[in-house]
Amino acid sequence: MAETIGAADIADNVAYLAYLAAALSAAVAAAALWLLERRRRVRDRRRYRERLAALESTVQAGTARILRRRELTRAILEISTTLLREHSLSIVLDRLLAATLENFGFSAGAFYLRSSPGEHFVRAAIAGLPRSHTEALLGQPVDPMTFDQILSPEFRVRETYYYVPGERAAELGFPVGLRRFPELADVPRSRSGAWQERDVIAFPFFDRHGRITGLLVPDDPVERRFPNDEVIRAIEMFAALASVAVENARLATQRETATRQMAEVLRVSGELLAEERLDDLLLAILRAALRTFDLAGGEIALLDQARDVFVRRAALGRVVSEPIGAEIDPATVQRRLAAERRTAEGYYETSDALTFPFPDAAGRIIGFLAPELPHGSGPIARETARTMQIYANFAGLAVARAEVRGLEIRRLRELEEIAQMKSDFVSTVSHELRTPLTSIKGFISILIHRRGAMSAEQRGEALRIVDSEANRLIRLVDDLLAAARLERGAFHVELRSTPVNAVVQRAVTAVAMEYPARRFVVCPGGDGLASHTDPDHALRIVTNLLTNAAKYSPEGGEIVVNVGGDGDQVTIEVVDAGPGIPRDERERIFERFVRLDDQVRSNAGTGLGLYISRQLAKAVGGTLTLEESGAPGSRFRLTLRAAESGLGS
Ligand code: ADP
Repeated sequence: MAETIGAADIADNVAYLAYLAAALSAAVAAAALWLLERRRRVRDRRRYRERLAALESTVQAGTARILRRRELTRAILEISTTLLREHSLSIVLDRLLAATLENFGFSAGAFYLRSSPGEHFVRAAIAGLPRSHTEALLGQPVDPMTFDQILSPEFRVRETYYYVPGERAAELGFPVGLRRFPELADVPRSRSGAWQERDVIAFPFFDRHGRITGLLVPDDPVERRFPNDEVIRAIEMFAALASVAVENARLATQRETATRQMAEVLRVSGELLAEERLDDLLLAILRAALRTFDLAGGEIALLDQARDVFVRRAALGRVVSEPIGAEIDPATVQRRLAAERRTAEGYYETSDALTFPFPDAAGRIIGFLAPELPHGSGPIARETARTMQIYANFAGLAVARAEVRGLEIRRLRELEEIAQMKSDFVSTVSHELRTPLTSIKGFISILIHRRGAMSAEQRGEALRIVDSEANRLIRLVDDLLAAARLERGAFHVELRSTPVNAVVQRAVTAVAMEYPARRFVVCPGGDGLASHTDPDHALRIVTNLLTNAAKYSPEGGEIVVNVGGDGDQVTIEVVDAGPGIPRDERERIFERFVRLDDQVRSNAGTGLGLYISRQLAKAVGGTLTLEESGAPGSRFRLTLRAAESGLGS
């Protein structure tokens, strides 16, 4: 049976094989699936890990950036605080520069500043150089050409950032500035993005008018790489901070200067009150003005009103060729005070001088203060000009004060004189009244009580004396009344054609009677010589002149009266050979109550005669003067208007 294989057996085997094959393929498929699944998982895990790593590094980079930003913010905050606290510009700039270099990885750098747009830049802060170099370079001006080139549109990346590539810097022949360090000589810098040895980046900053006042120039990056944009932006901010510092410092300096100047002005105003003499005061003002502005010399000149020229009254500093009191060349003054030289501030500016005028109350320039400026010092600041003008005005005040004081002193003197005159007057008048009254009273008593014992001749003589003394009293009272009327302006004047020779003759006759021991010589004017005057007043004046001549000249002395006329004037001169009148009393004797000392005691009088005479002469349109006599004695001249029909002499 074994040798025969039945159909059933075959069928069984085939089925079994089929089953096996099926089972096998199922197993293979399952294995393949499992493998596939496993592979996917591995890949996913790897991807996941990769993503995780990427995420991690992103987070790390972000954190670093945040940390860096925090650092920067801290640095900026710190600098800002320094800015607020620290007044010294150089300290602020040093800190700012150090922070810039430290935060952005530069090993050297500098700040350059200039005080105004036209001026040179000066090295204001330097970092990264040996101390000895720094000291030599600080404060030194730099070649302006270089900066003009750096700040040209060619290199302008944007407003706050200029970049000059090394090759261009070399072509332009920029001087080897701060950045040349021997130890960097062999560092290769040709790769793109690398820092070239001569590369320049400059960050300008601006004042409030938008003018460039400074430059921040960092140099020699530690990593020899050109800073990325983020760093550039941050440095720009540091440059902006520097501009704030500079403006701050400028304001502080201005404030300080203004305070110092005001203190000085106040001190001088104190001096103004203390100093008595005008010239001392002007010198003090000039000295203070010059000291306030650190100037070596200058002058103050005042207008001499009488001569209409300016005169030097205070000078300091320069080797003064003309002394104090010297006249200043009018051409110089005219040039300095020419209208077109006037500035908006009110002072005058020429190429070689500044002139600060001061006016009087009416606005006329009565003086000026002219400081001497050092050569090439340029225009002065407006504040300085203003303060200078204050000093000039002080000088104006000083002059006004001196004038007021002068007036006060004169007034005081006048008051003193008037007081003195009044007391003199009282004693003179009492004396003048008493003398004739005593004499009248004496003779009247004698006439009453001893009439019988007197001869007719004696009685006649006594009565003549009484009459004469009574006349003297009447004249005195008359004079007093006349003076009082003249004072009040209540004086009657009646002008008419008056024969002059006749008036003179009447006066001579009257006075000659009173002074029989004097010789009167009359040289009359032409016949018909007439004056348009008040005859009573004319008579009174001539009588008074003749009385004085008789009173004050020695017995036997000749008294000459010259009468003359020249068309519209008539003159009457009374010349005596007496003691004369001292030159400096010539005007004074025409004042009320003035009597010359030596005559007060020896001659009767009130000091009213000449006063009344001159006032009367004026009232009739004439003059009364004391002339140079050419000989001992006095020569009074009365000038009157000629009458229209007058013939002249
Ligand atoms: P009085 O004669 O009353 O003193 P006057 O006013 O007439 O006053 O004169 C003022 C003064 O001037 C006199 O006191 C005298 O000192 C002086 N004086 C006037 N005339 C003469 C003269 N002819 N010679 C000298 N001195 C004179």
